[in-house]
Amino acid sequence: MKPEKTAIVIGSGAGGAVIANELQGRYKVAILEAGKEFEPFSLPVGRLAGLRGTGLFFDERLIRLLLPNMDVSKTTDMVLVRGIGVGGTTTLATGNAVRYDGALKELGIDLDKQFEELYRELPITTDHRKRWSETTKRLYELFQEMGLDPVVTPKLLYADMCIGCGHCAIGCPTGAKWDTRALVYRAVKKGAKLLTGCRVESLEISGGRVTGVRAKLNGKPVHYRADLIVLSAGGLGTPVILENSGIPCRETLFVDPVLCVAGPLPGFHQEQELLMPFISQQDGYILSPYMDYLSFFFNRQWRRPMGDLVSIMIKLADEEKGTVGRHSTDKTMSEADTARMDKAVALSRELLVKLGIPEKDQFLGTLNAGHPGGMLPLTAAEKDTLHDPSLPENLYVADATILPKAMGNPPILTIMALAKKIASLVPD
Ligand SMILES: Cc1cc2nc3c(=O)[nH]c(=O)nc-3n(C[C@H](O)[C@H](O)[C@H](O)COP(=O)(O)OP(=O)(O)OC[C@H]3O[C@@H](n4cnc5c(N)ncnc54)[C@H](O)[C@@H]3O)c2cc1C
Repeated sequence: MKPEKTAIVIGSGAGGAVIANELQGRYKVAILEAGKEFEPFSLPVGRLAGLRGTGLFFDERLIRLLLPNMDVSKTTDMVLVRGIGVGGTTTLATGNAVRYDGALKELGIDLDKQFEELYRELPITTDHRKRWSETTKRLYELFQEMGLDPVVTPKLLYADMCIGCGHCAIGCPTGAKWDTRALVYRAVKKGAKLLTGCRVESLEISGGRVTGVRAKLNGKPVHYRADLIVLSAGGLGTPVILENSGIPCRETLFVDPVLCVAGPLPGFHQEQELLMPFISQQDGYILSPYMDYLSFFFNRQWRRPMGDLVSIMIKLADEEKGTVGRHSTDKTMSEADTARMDKAVALSRELLVKLGIPEKDQFLGTLNAGHPGGMLPLTAAEKDTLHDPSLPENLYVADATILPKAMGNPPILTIMALAKKIASLVPD
């Protein structure tokens, strides 16, 4: 009998969970996950909000005390957010499931089959619209009146289970929101091994092949070998592991910067709705209603009850310029990014004025970003292999690192489709 081949998948977010699930059976898969199981926000939001004046919430990185799987780091310009734990950043996502593969199509990468499979396999729905609150309906109409063409957001959601609590990004309390933990557990049920608390530091490469990984398991150095290794540690994790292994990435980090424009509207209760119920696509950015928890807790101007706030999110497709490395992250807003953001802020302010909030009462949120990627971007030369030639042949990257361009749009579904295609290209 042929000995079973082994594969290590590093990370269990959008890319890692898909590829682990697809490969298990063809390979004996081990998932090495730096974080632990996901734990939702631990305390009542309203009661904690009362402590905002005490000086307790002075640095966004402290959010980890309340939401242990949310990892926050800072650059000179902005706060970077990612999920560390089983399910990766998908556990913090608002569940948007948008196909956004135009840039990949331009390279000749056809993901039709993979998207079809995902639409069959996942609970993707716009049914939440039936239960929208009057507030959301009012915002949707306003977007329509202003010619902003709002589109109901397809969600990874069991809509009947959604109670409209607005906690999508801090831990859905009913299990209505789908995230990639479901795929991780499916892979484990099929025989994959999941090791949590296992932070991979570097790869062992010899004779042009990757032979294993060096990691810390609950702080202790360990070493694992495998026939195939897939890096899915995300847009901030994968480049560091590659750098530590002597494989440099490009300085093409994008992050999709997010800025909320908000204002007081007593009793509006925008927070009693799932986040981002609809999206308006603009030139290089999107607009969507979004209650920004980081700004709510850590930004002084947001110190009002959540129910008395209205907040519109701008998410920008930024220039692909920046790096994350072992020692530092370098990501700033370029001039073009700032110009586009200013335009988006002006439009959002106009929206709020139409809701009855004068400009002088409006305020901005904290500039943050949660869609890092792009440091090993696919090119047309890799359209058939989805494998960068700088990598050993038995090492693949399957996460946001390989996206060719900033999307300014929700990337989960597209990363999942790419990961599916990569799994189909990996030789047995
Ligand atoms: C608040 C928020 C809301 C969002 N909402 C949406 C949304 O609604 N829809 C959407 O499409 N996108 C959304 N996103 C973005 C989306 O979640 C990410 O772009 C996507 O999950 C990235 O997938 P990935 O596989 O590249 O990385 P991740 O999902 O981040 O997975 C990386 C995994 O690697 C693990 N890891 C990291 N380093 C190591 C290491 N050294 N060793 C071992 N494991 C490691 C991490 O713990 C994690 O499990 C949101 C992001 C944020 C922050």
